[in-house]
Amino acid sequence: MTFSPEKALSVQNLGVTFSDASGVVHALHDLSFTLAPNEFVSLIGPSGSGKSTLLRVLAGLIPPTHGTFAFNQNQPKVGLVFQKANLMPWRRVIDNVGLPLELQGAPAAEIEERAMDLIQLVGLEGFEQAYPRDLSGGMAQRVAIARSLMQDPDMLLLDEPFGSLDDLTRERMGDELLHIWQARRKTVLMVTHSISEAIYLSDRVLVLSPRPGMFKLDLPIDLPRPRTPDLRYAPKFSALAQKLRESLRDENGYAT
Ligand code: ADP
Ligand code: MG
Repeated sequence: MTFSPEKALSVQNLGVTFSDASGVVHALHDLSFTLAPNEFVSLIGPSGSGKSTLLRVLAGLIPPTHGTFAFNQNQPKVGLVFQKANLMPWRRVIDNVGLPLELQGAPAAEIEERAMDLIQLVGLEGFEQAYPRDLSGGMAQRVAIARSLMQDPDMLLLDEPFGSLDDLTRERMGDELLHIWQARRKTVLMVTHSISEAIYLSDRVLVLSPRPGMFKLDLPIDLPRPRTPDLRYAPKFSALAQKLRESLRDENGYAT
């Protein structure tokens, strides 16, 4: 597939099949979609619908079985954030954030400057010398987000990044993420289980069906930006939530 400057990512007829001793699993089937540069898109769907598999393919960790995908440039930098922060417990915050550049052999002064800049961006100033054991779940996740930004990625792939946080922390982290996204302009593809989080943060929400994952809905979120917390009470917000909830229900009317 050829590069296209007006698309950050083009995915065409993507399919992933796993086969092992216990049989064959069709994780994803015939997915086609594009992401525009700087677009914020959420991916929602039941457990096992292939959301993590899609992110792993796009991050280059596993090859697709069928189909193709292309970014708008060769070898784009991709940042990945998972539900668990996966920090190194023996490293201070600043050294966890700086790790990706350290692995590339960048000069120490450059690593420190960039890490400090990102620690400030995610609101952790003053904690750079702390160890992971001294951080709350939300703070650890901020460190993971700062670390993912260290190489100035063109695209951020987030796999349920706030899934283990309580509701209020989660909403605050959503606002932080929008602040970072507005400050640094990245294309974002985020997996979430939360309908309201998907609507609040995104330009578009993609809904995956149960296995094998196929798109059921591609819903534009035409709410004004910047998003503010009371937007959650707007009638338009509820109408969008209802559409997503209906799409996530199976044929019998149960949530899948
Ligand atoms: P989700 O993130 O939407 O919950 P996953 O992408 O993790 O779903 O998994 C989709 C399906 O693919 C599941 O049935 C899962 O068991 C299967 N799967 C994922 N990774 C592997 C693997 N490495 N080997 C075999 N099956 C896998
Ligand atoms: Mg998953």
